[in-house]
Amino acid sequence: MFETLQAQPADKILALMAQYRADPRETKIDLGVGVYKDATGLTPVMKAVKAAEHKLWEEQDSKSYVGLAGDPAFGDAMVELVLGDSVPRETVAAAATPGGTGAIRQAFELIQMARPDARVFLSNPTWPNHPSILKYLGMEIVDYRYFDDETRGVDFDGMTADLKTARKGDVVLLHGCCHNPTGANLNAVQWQEVIKVLLETGATPMVDIAYQGFGDGLEEDAAATRAVVAAVPEAIVAASCSKNFGIYRERTGILMAVSKDMSAKGLNQQTLAFLNRQNFSFPPDHGARVVTMILNDPTLKAQWIEELESVRVAMLGLRTQLAGELQRLSGSDRFGFLADHRGMFSRLGTTPEMVEKLRVDAGIYMVGDSRMNIAGLNAETVPVLAKAIVDAGI
Ligand code: PMP
Repeated sequence: MFETLQAQPADKILALMAQYRADPRETKIDLGVGVYKDATGLTPVMKAVKAAEHKLWEEQDSKSYVGLAGDPAFGDAMVELVLGDSVPRETVAAAATPGGTGAIRQAFELIQMARPDARVFLSNPTWPNHPSILKYLGMEIVDYRYFDDETRGVDFDGMTADLKTARKGDVVLLHGCCHNPTGANLNAVQWQEVIKVLLETGATPMVDIAYQGFGDGLEEDAAATRAVVAAVPEAIVAASCSKNFGIYRERTGILMAVSKDMSAKGLNQQTLAFLNRQNFSFPPDHGARVVTMILNDPTLKAQWIEELESVRVAMLGLRTQLAGELQRLSGSDRFGFLADHRGMFSRLGTTPEMVEKLRVDAGIYMVGDSRMNIAGLNAETVPVLAKAIVDAGI
């Protein structure tokens, strides 16, 4: 039977990583894969995570199954972290999932179960896994305009015009903060406008929040998600702990279904557990337990916030340095957007040919759409990148 299989498109980022590894140049710079790296190029285990794991190793006396939706304490801690007190806890059904990707996959299946004809509106561009999973599930995608190639900010008029074509029963997928791949985000006033459109159209928002704490701060980065869920009758939220806890491989995420109609929570909760059971039964527990321990222990939580904050500030520093260096070398402000963008990524906004030229001439590796992982830089490599960008004539 395997002879009928067709080759699937390769993951572009993974292919780029392989190319980078094979490049003998010592001056090469990897701005590809979406993983935080410190100034020495390492992706360290956070101290708060190590401390929680140590405690867990000492205290855990069973690895028996937990529950289909994971440990309820994880659900409580994450709902509080992401949604704060924007909605009553009794309105939120929540289930642990394998990473944010697992939450997104389950969310799409939830939508399909509830509304087989739902269309899912995706920002153009968006994280490639969004369309890829939707296509795999045979769901209809509608792109909405998002990135303005001129300003490298958000094409807000285009975005709202496109979102107005959504109908009740459709879903609008929004990045809660730190838009991937562009780094361009809405301001608070624009979020209110989007909420107005959601209420007018009756479309259901689905917020993907994978970088809380990487943009303007833990609370600040959750503000848009909270405003959305507080305003609409129903919302879906998929959150990832991969980046902000640095536990990528532990596969820790959560899916939330929020309904103002409190009587819906029981059915929503049962449906989320059902979806887990169909796909993988019990969700991974280790990362979720570590996160719960950190969030419920004031000392560990304070330590985690401090570490996360230093990650965030380091990335902002690199942004400012890069924008400044580019201004100096190019004699223009056209790269100022790099300092305005937030999160791990920025879309430089150049052609695939230029991206290839940067790779060939300067050993700079970024994704073909010119997405750069800002965390792939350090104080020494920022000037190298800036010079390469200006030398390439971008
Ligand atoms: N959403 C977005 C926008 C992302 O960038 C990512 C990570 N690349 C995720 C969700 C999910 O990440 P993970 O499955 O590793 O938790």
